[in-house]
Amino acid sequence: MTTVKDVFVSYKQALSGIYDANETEALTLLTLSEITGSTKAQLKAFPEKQLTDGQSENTNAILNRLQTGEPLQYILGHTEFYGLLFKVNPSVLIPRPETEELVEWILSEVGGLQLAVGSILDIGTGSGCIAISLKKNLPDVNASAVDVSSPAIETAQQNADLNTVKVNFIEDDILDPSNHSLLTTHYSLIVSNPPYVTMHDKTQMHRNVTDFEPHTALFVPEDDPLIFYKAIADFALERLVPGGFLFFEINEGLGNETVEMLQGKGFKDIELRQDMSGRDRMIRGTRI
Ligand code: GLN
Repeated sequence: MTTVKDVFVSYKQALSGIYDANETEALTLLTLSEITGSTKAQLKAFPEKQLTDGQSENTNAILNRLQTGEPLQYILGHTEFYGLLFKVNPSVLIPRPETEELVEWILSEVGGLQLAVGSILDIGTGSGCIAISLKKNLPDVNASAVDVSSPAIETAQQNADLNTVKVNFIEDDILDPSNHSLLTTHYSLIVSNPPYVTMHDKTQMHRNVTDFEPHTALFVPEDDPLIFYKAIADFALERLVPGGFLFFEINEGLGNETVEMLQGKGFKDIELRQDMSGRDRMIRGTRI
C-alpha cells in the first residue's frame, strides 16, 4: 500500500533534476490534495495515510508527465487565480501570481471611482484571468477582452461561464490597426499583460515555461521588445476616455524604457510598481 509519505519520497527523487525542493514539495502537495480531496494541512499532519490503488495510479501517471517538465496546471487542466478557478490548456499562458498583484492594484485604484460603471478592455486576455477577475469584483463595468488566438478566446469564454460573469470576448490582432473594427467603444480602463520575453530572457527561463507554454503569448523580437506596448499605447490614446487608465504588466528589465515610451506618447501620472519579489513589474498611465 502506498502512503502519502511514499508519494513525497518518490516525487522528491523523480523531480529533483527539474525542480528545487520547495517547488517539488508544492507540486506534491497540490497533486495529492487534488487526487485525495484532503487539504494540504491534512496531508502534512497524516503522512501515514494510505492511498487507494486508483489514487496511487493517478499520482504515478501525473509524476510521469511532471518528469517531462509539463506544468502541473496543464496536467490538472485548471488553476486558481485571484481566488477563482480557471481552466488552462497549452493554448493559454498559466496565470501568474504577479498578475494577481496587477489585478489587486487596479481594483484598489478604481474600486471606489465611478469608473465602476464604465467599460474596460483586457488586451491579450489568454485564459481571461484579468478580465474575469476584474468583472467579478467590479460587477457594474462592461468588460471586454481580446486575443489573437481563437482557442484562447474559447478557453476564456469557458472561464467566464465557469465564474458566472459576462465578458465580451473578441478575436483581434492588436498589432494590426486596420483590423480593430470590432472595438468601437471607448474605455475607462485598458489593461494588458502582453508578450514581453526576449530571446535573451528565454535562456534564463525554466523549460516548463519555454517548452510548454504558448510562444505567441510569451516572446517578442529582441530588437523591438516593446512592440506590443507601443501598439497598445497608441490604441489606448484613441480609445481611452480622457482621464482613463492604462495598466500594463511589464518585463522587469524594461521598466524605465516603458515609462519613457508612455511619457513620449503623452500619458500622465505614470507610476512604475514592483512585484512581491521587488522587480519592476507593472505600470499605470493616465490619458489626459
Ligand atoms: N511573466 C511571464 C513569465 O515569466 C511572462 C508573461 C508575459 O510574457 N506576458 O513566464
